[in-house]
Amino acid sequence: MKTVTLIVPCYNEKDVLPMFYREVSAVLEKCTDYAFTFLFVNDGSRDTTLLILRSLAEMDTRVKYISLSRNFGKESAMLAGMKYARTDYVGILDADLQHSPELIPDMLAALDSGFDIAAARRVDRSGESKIKSAFSRGFYKVINKLSDVDIAEGAQDYRMMKRKVVEAILSMPEYNRFSKGIFSWVGFKTKWFEHVNRERAAGTTKWSFRKLSHYALDGIIGFSTAPLKFSLYVGVLASVCGFLYALYTIIKTLIIGTDVPGYPSIISAIFIFGGLILVCLGVIGEYISRIYLEVKKRPVFIIDETNIQTDEIKE
Ligand code: UDP
Ligand code: MG
Repeated sequence: MKTVTLIVPCYNEKDVLPMFYREVSAVLEKCTDYAFTFLFVNDGSRDTTLLILRSLAEMDTRVKYISLSRNFGKESAMLAGMKYARTDYVGILDADLQHSPELIPDMLAALDSGFDIAAARRVDRSGESKIKSAFSRGFYKVINKLSDVDIAEGAQDYRMMKRKVVEAILSMPEYNRFSKGIFSWVGFKTKWFEHVNRERAAGTTKWSFRKLSHYALDGIIGFSTAPLKFSLYVGVLASVCGFLYALYTIIKTLIIGTDVPGYPSIISAIFIFGGLILVCLGVIGEYISRIYLEVKKRPVFIIDETNIQTDEIKE
Protein backbone atom coordinates (compact mmCIF):
# COMPACT_ATOMS: atom_id res chain seq x y z
CA MET A 1 0.00 0.00 0.00
CA LYS A 2 1.38 3.42 -0.99
CA THR A 3 1.62 6.13 1.65
CA VAL A 4 0.56 9.72 0.93
CA THR A 5 0.99 12.94 2.91
CA LEU A 6 -1.25 15.92 2.19
CA ILE A 7 0.45 19.16 3.24
CA VAL A 8 -1.96 21.98 4.07
CA PRO A 9 -0.52 25.42 4.86
CA CYS A 10 -2.94 27.29 7.14
CA TYR A 11 -2.87 30.94 8.08
CA ASN A 12 -5.96 32.14 9.97
CA GLU A 13 -8.17 29.42 8.52
CA LYS A 14 -10.44 28.65 11.49
CA ASP A 15 -13.58 29.26 9.43
CA VAL A 16 -12.75 26.78 6.74
CA LEU A 17 -10.67 24.05 8.41
CA PRO A 18 -13.53 21.84 9.73
CA MET A 19 -15.19 22.01 6.32
CA PHE A 20 -11.88 21.25 4.63
CA TYR A 21 -11.29 18.22 6.83
CA ARG A 22 -14.80 16.87 6.16
CA GLU A 23 -14.68 17.33 2.39
CA VAL A 24 -11.19 15.93 1.91
CA SER A 25 -11.83 12.98 4.22
CA ALA A 26 -14.89 12.13 2.14
CA VAL A 27 -12.77 12.06 -1.02
CA LEU A 28 -10.02 10.02 0.65
CA GLU A 29 -12.52 7.37 1.69
CA LYS A 30 -12.84 6.46 -1.97
CA CYS A 31 -9.06 6.00 -2.38
CA THR A 32 -8.75 2.74 -0.48
CA ASP A 33 -5.39 1.78 -2.03
CA TYR A 34 -3.44 4.44 -0.16
CA ALA A 35 -2.65 5.26 3.47
CA PHE A 36 -3.10 8.99 4.02
CA THR A 37 -1.61 11.43 6.51
CA PHE A 38 -2.77 15.03 6.84
CA LEU A 39 0.09 17.39 7.60
CA PHE A 40 -1.29 20.79 8.57
CA VAL A 41 1.26 23.57 8.88
CA ASN A 42 -0.03 26.37 11.06
CA ASP A 43 1.80 29.41 9.72
CA GLY A 44 1.59 31.58 12.84
CA SER A 45 -2.19 32.05 12.74
CA ARG A 46 -3.64 34.63 15.09
CA ASP A 47 -7.01 32.93 15.35
CA THR A 48 -8.00 29.53 16.77
CA THR A 49 -6.51 27.52 13.88
CA LEU A 50 -4.06 25.76 16.21
CA LEU A 51 -6.83 24.73 18.64
CA ILE A 52 -8.79 23.26 15.76
CA LEU A 53 -5.72 21.37 14.56
CA ARG A 54 -5.09 19.98 18.05
CA SER A 55 -8.64 18.71 18.34
CA LEU A 56 -8.56 17.21 14.82
CA ALA A 57 -5.35 15.40 15.79
CA GLU A 58 -7.02 14.03 18.90
CA MET A 59 -9.95 12.74 16.87
CA ASP A 60 -8.02 11.30 13.98
CA THR A 61 -4.58 9.70 14.21
CA ARG A 62 -3.97 10.50 10.53
CA VAL A 63 -3.78 14.19 11.44
CA LYS A 64 -0.32 15.60 12.09
CA TYR A 65 0.41 19.27 12.51
CA ILE A 66 3.39 21.57 12.73
CA SER A 67 2.91 24.97 14.26
CA LEU A 68 5.44 27.64 13.29
CA SER A 69 6.56 30.25 15.80
CA ARG A 70 5.21 33.14 13.68
CA ASN A 71 3.88 33.85 10.20
CA PHE A 72 6.70 32.89 7.85
CA GLY A 73 4.65 32.93 4.64
CA LYS A 74 3.14 30.16 2.55
CA GLU A 75 6.45 29.30 0.87
CA SER A 76 8.06 28.52 4.22
CA ALA A 77 5.01 26.62 5.42
CA MET A 78 5.13 24.38 2.35
CA LEU A 79 8.83 23.77 2.87
CA ALA A 80 8.27 22.81 6.52
CA GLY A 81 5.64 20.33 5.39
CA MET A 82 7.89 18.80 2.74
CA LYS A 83 10.74 18.46 5.21
CA TYR A 84 8.59 16.45 7.60
CA ALA A 85 6.71 14.32 5.10
CA ARG A 86 8.07 10.77 5.02
CA THR A 87 5.72 9.13 2.53
CA ASP A 88 5.99 7.72 -1.01
CA TYR A 89 3.79 10.49 -2.37
CA VAL A 90 3.52 14.05 -1.09
CA GLY A 91 0.74 16.45 -2.01
CA ILE A 92 0.14 20.13 -1.28
CA LEU A 93 -3.22 21.87 -1.23
CA ASP A 94 -4.72 25.06 0.15
CA ALA A 95 -6.96 24.97 3.19
CA ASP A 96 -9.67 27.10 1.62
CA LEU A 97 -11.01 24.34 -0.69
CA GLN A 98 -10.14 26.39 -3.79
CA HIS A 99 -8.06 23.41 -4.78
CA SER A 100 -10.85 20.90 -5.38
CA PRO A 101 -10.06 17.68 -3.51
CA GLU A 102 -11.98 15.72 -6.18
CA LEU A 103 -8.80 15.84 -8.26
CA ILE A 104 -6.80 13.83 -5.70
CA PRO A 105 -7.73 10.32 -6.95
CA ASP A 106 -6.85 11.23 -10.55
CA MET A 107 -3.59 12.82 -9.48
CA LEU A 108 -2.59 9.73 -7.52
CA ALA A 109 -3.49 7.54 -10.50
CA ALA A 110 -1.22 9.68 -12.69
CA LEU A 111 1.69 9.09 -10.28
CA ASP A 112 0.97 5.36 -10.28
CA SER A 113 1.00 5.33 -14.06
CA GLY A 114 4.54 6.69 -14.20
CA PHE A 115 4.35 10.48 -13.89
CA ASP A 116 6.53 12.03 -11.19
CA ILE A 117 4.40 15.11 -10.63
CA ALA A 118 0.68 15.68 -11.01
CA ALA A 119 -0.07 19.37 -10.86
CA ALA A 120 -3.12 21.56 -11.26
CA ARG A 121 -3.33 24.41 -13.67
CA ARG A 122 -6.04 26.94 -13.44
CA VAL A 123 -7.84 27.53 -16.72
CA ASP A 124 -10.30 30.25 -15.91
CA ARG A 125 -9.83 33.32 -13.84
CA SER A 126 -13.46 34.21 -13.30
CA GLY A 127 -14.16 35.52 -9.84
CA GLU A 128 -10.92 37.50 -9.94
CA SER A 129 -10.58 41.19 -10.70
CA LYS A 130 -9.59 42.15 -14.28
CA ILE A 131 -6.55 44.08 -13.05
CA LYS A 132 -5.29 41.13 -11.00
CA SER A 133 -5.68 38.78 -13.99
CA ALA A 134 -3.88 41.21 -16.31
CA PHE A 135 -0.98 41.60 -13.87
CA SER A 136 -0.80 37.88 -13.39
CA ARG A 137 -0.70 37.16 -17.13
CA GLY A 138 1.94 39.85 -17.59
CA PHE A 139 4.01 38.31 -14.83
CA TYR A 140 4.07 34.88 -16.51
CA LYS A 141 5.07 36.45 -19.83
CA VAL A 142 7.92 38.41 -18.24
CA ILE A 143 9.31 35.61 -16.10
CA ASN A 144 9.25 33.07 -18.92
CA LYS A 145 11.03 35.50 -21.25
CA LEU A 146 13.67 36.51 -18.74
CA SER A 147 14.49 33.29 -16.92
CA ASP A 148 15.64 29.83 -17.87
CA VAL A 149 12.69 28.12 -16.19
CA ASP A 150 9.41 27.69 -17.97
CA ILE A 151 6.46 28.31 -15.68
CA ALA A 152 3.12 27.20 -17.06
CA GLU A 153 0.60 30.02 -16.96
CA GLY A 154 -1.88 29.50 -14.15
CA ALA A 155 0.29 26.79 -12.57
CA GLN A 156 -0.81 26.36 -8.98
CA ASP A 157 0.86 25.09 -5.87
CA TYR A 158 -1.75 22.31 -5.87
CA ARG A 159 0.16 19.15 -6.73
CA MET A 160 1.14 15.58 -5.88
CA MET A 161 4.77 14.53 -6.11
CA LYS A 162 6.82 11.41 -5.76
CA ARG A 163 9.39 11.20 -2.98
CA LYS A 164 12.33 11.85 -5.32
CA VAL A 165 10.81 15.15 -6.48
CA VAL A 166 10.45 16.29 -2.87
CA GLU A 167 14.08 15.31 -2.19
CA ALA A 168 15.12 17.39 -5.20
CA ILE A 169 13.15 20.39 -3.94
CA LEU A 170 14.65 20.02 -0.45
CA SER A 171 18.12 19.94 -1.97
CA MET A 172 17.64 23.57 -3.02
CA PRO A 173 18.78 25.44 0.06
CA GLU A 174 17.83 28.95 -0.96
CA TYR A 175 16.29 31.34 1.51
CA ASN A 176 14.20 33.31 -0.97
CA ARG A 177 11.91 30.52 -1.99
CA PHE A 178 9.75 31.04 -5.02
CA SER A 179 8.03 27.68 -5.27
CA LYS A 180 6.53 28.10 -8.72
CA GLY A 181 10.08 28.52 -10.03
CA ILE A 182 11.55 25.78 -7.84
CA PHE A 183 8.85 23.28 -8.85
CA SER A 184 9.57 23.94 -12.50
CA TRP A 185 13.36 24.13 -12.10
CA VAL A 186 13.70 20.61 -10.70
CA GLY A 187 12.14 19.16 -13.84
CA PHE A 188 10.64 15.62 -13.84
CA LYS A 189 7.71 14.27 -15.81
CA THR A 190 4.65 16.33 -15.06
CA LYS A 191 1.01 15.68 -15.85
CA TRP A 192 -1.14 18.81 -15.82
CA PHE A 193 -4.71 18.82 -14.63
CA GLU A 194 -6.91 21.64 -15.85
CA HIS A 195 -8.74 23.05 -12.92
CA VAL A 196 -11.56 25.57 -12.71
CA ASN A 197 -11.09 28.03 -9.92
CA ARG A 198 -13.54 27.73 -7.07
CA GLU A 199 -14.58 30.44 -4.69
CA ARG A 200 -12.88 30.36 -1.32
CA ALA A 201 -15.18 28.26 0.92
CA ALA A 202 -14.86 30.58 3.95
CA GLY A 203 -12.50 33.14 5.45
CA THR A 204 -10.62 35.71 3.37
CA THR A 205 -7.62 35.71 1.07
CA LYS A 206 -4.25 36.28 2.74
CA TRP A 207 -2.67 37.79 -0.35
CA SER A 208 -2.90 41.53 -0.72
CA PHE A 209 -1.82 43.25 -3.92
CA ARG A 210 1.36 44.35 -2.15
CA LYS A 211 2.19 40.80 -1.07
CA LEU A 212 1.54 39.55 -4.60
CA SER A 213 3.83 42.10 -6.21
CA HIS A 214 6.60 41.23 -3.74
CA TYR A 215 6.03 37.62 -4.66
CA ALA A 216 6.33 38.41 -8.39
CA LEU A 217 9.53 40.37 -7.84
CA ASP A 218 10.97 37.51 -5.77
CA GLY A 219 10.19 35.15 -8.62
CA ILE A 220 11.83 37.25 -11.29
CA ILE A 221 14.92 38.03 -9.22
CA GLY A 222 15.22 34.48 -7.93
CA PHE A 223 15.16 32.91 -11.35
CA SER A 224 16.65 35.47 -13.69
CA THR A 225 19.68 37.70 -13.84
CA ALA A 226 18.28 39.49 -16.89
CA PRO A 227 17.35 42.66 -14.95
CA LEU A 228 21.03 43.06 -14.06
CA LYS A 229 21.95 42.85 -17.72
CA PHE A 230 19.09 45.19 -18.54
CA SER A 231 20.59 47.90 -16.35
CA LEU A 232 23.95 47.31 -18.02
CA TYR A 233 22.43 47.71 -21.49
CA VAL A 234 20.49 50.79 -20.54
CA GLY A 235 23.63 52.28 -19.03
CA VAL A 236 25.69 51.58 -22.16
CA LEU A 237 22.96 52.91 -24.43
CA ALA A 238 22.62 56.06 -22.34
CA SER A 239 26.34 56.78 -22.35
CA VAL A 240 26.63 56.19 -26.10
CA CYS A 241 23.76 58.61 -26.69
CA GLY A 242 25.36 61.15 -24.35
CA PHE A 243 28.71 60.80 -26.11
CA LEU A 244 27.19 61.19 -29.58
CA TYR A 245 25.24 64.22 -28.44
CA ALA A 246 28.42 65.82 -27.05
CA LEU A 247 30.22 65.15 -30.33
CA TYR A 248 27.33 66.64 -32.26
CA THR A 249 27.38 69.76 -30.08
CA ILE A 250 31.14 70.24 -30.48
CA ILE A 251 31.00 69.89 -34.26
CA LYS A 252 27.95 72.14 -34.50
CA THR A 253 29.67 74.80 -32.37
CA LEU A 254 32.82 74.66 -34.47
CA ILE A 255 30.86 75.05 -37.72
CA ILE A 256 28.02 77.45 -36.92
CA GLY A 257 28.89 78.59 -33.39
CA THR A 258 26.55 78.59 -30.39
CA ASP A 259 23.04 79.94 -30.61
CA VAL A 260 21.05 80.03 -27.37
CA PRO A 261 22.88 78.62 -24.35
CA GLY A 262 21.10 75.31 -23.78
CA TYR A 263 19.93 75.23 -20.19
CA PRO A 264 16.80 73.19 -20.87
CA SER A 265 18.71 70.45 -22.63
CA ILE A 266 21.27 70.27 -19.83
CA ILE A 267 18.62 70.08 -17.16
CA SER A 268 16.68 67.40 -19.01
CA ALA A 269 19.85 65.43 -19.62
CA ILE A 270 20.66 65.54 -15.90
CA PHE A 271 17.22 64.30 -15.02
CA ILE A 272 17.21 61.53 -17.63
CA PHE A 273 20.65 60.22 -16.76
CA GLY A 274 20.19 60.71 -13.03
CA GLY A 275 17.04 58.65 -13.32
CA LEU A 276 18.76 55.92 -15.29
CA ILE A 277 21.54 55.70 -12.73
CA LEU A 278 19.04 55.38 -9.92
CA VAL A 279 17.16 52.66 -11.82
CA CYS A 280 20.38 50.70 -12.32
CA LEU A 281 21.37 51.13 -8.68
CA GLY A 282 17.92 49.99 -7.64
CA VAL A 283 18.18 46.81 -9.71
CA ILE A 284 21.57 46.03 -8.21
CA GLY A 285 20.23 46.83 -4.75
CA GLU A 286 17.41 44.31 -5.15
CA TYR A 287 19.92 41.58 -5.96
CA ILE A 288 22.30 42.55 -3.18
CA SER A 289 19.51 42.57 -0.61
CA ARG A 290 18.72 38.99 -1.62
CA ILE A 291 22.38 37.98 -1.47
CA TYR A 292 22.52 39.51 1.99
CA LEU A 293 19.63 37.36 3.17
CA GLU A 294 21.10 34.24 1.53
CA VAL A 295 24.53 34.55 3.15
CA LYS A 296 23.02 34.92 6.59
CA LYS A 297 21.77 31.34 6.23
CA ARG A 298 18.84 31.90 8.50
CA PRO A 299 16.39 29.04 8.86
CA VAL A 300 13.38 29.42 6.59
CA PHE A 301 10.98 28.56 9.43
CA ILE A 302 11.02 27.86 13.17
CA ILE A 303 8.80 25.25 14.78
CA ASP A 304 6.97 26.04 17.97
CA GLU A 305 4.90 22.92 18.45
CA THR A 306 4.13 19.66 16.65
CA ASN A 307 2.54 16.28 17.28
CA ILE A 308 5.09 14.50 15.08
CA GLN A 309 7.34 12.21 17.12
CA THR A 310 10.90 13.51 17.35
CA ASP A 311 12.37 10.27 16.02
CA GLU A 312 10.34 10.79 12.83
CA ILE A 313 12.13 14.06 12.26
CA LYS A 314 15.29 14.21 10.23
CA GLU A 315 17.41 17.28 9.92
N1 UDP B 1 -1.12 30.81 3.67
C1 UDP B 1 -0.08 30.57 4.59
N2 UDP B 1 0.70 31.61 5.00
C2 UDP B 1 0.52 32.87 4.54
C3 UDP B 1 -0.52 33.12 3.58
C4 UDP B 1 -1.30 32.06 3.17
O1 UDP B 1 0.12 29.43 5.01
O2 UDP B 1 1.25 33.78 4.96
C5 UDP B 1 -1.97 29.68 3.22
C6 UDP B 1 -3.46 29.91 3.43
O3 UDP B 1 -3.87 29.50 4.71
C7 UDP B 1 -4.08 29.04 2.34
C8 UDP B 1 -3.03 29.12 1.23
O4 UDP B 1 -1.82 29.53 1.83
O5 UDP B 1 -4.21 27.69 2.73
C9 UDP B 1 -3.44 30.07 0.11
O6 UDP B 1 -3.76 31.32 0.64
P1 UDP B 1 -5.00 32.17 0.14
O7 UDP B 1 -6.19 31.29 -0.10
O8 UDP B 1 -5.19 33.28 1.11
O9 UDP B 1 -4.45 32.73 -1.24
P2 UDP B 1 -5.26 32.90 -2.63
O10 UDP B 1 -5.98 31.60 -2.88
O11 UDP B 1 -6.19 34.03 -2.41
O12 UDP B 1 -4.20 33.18 -3.63
MG1 MG C 1 -7.16 30.68 -1.70
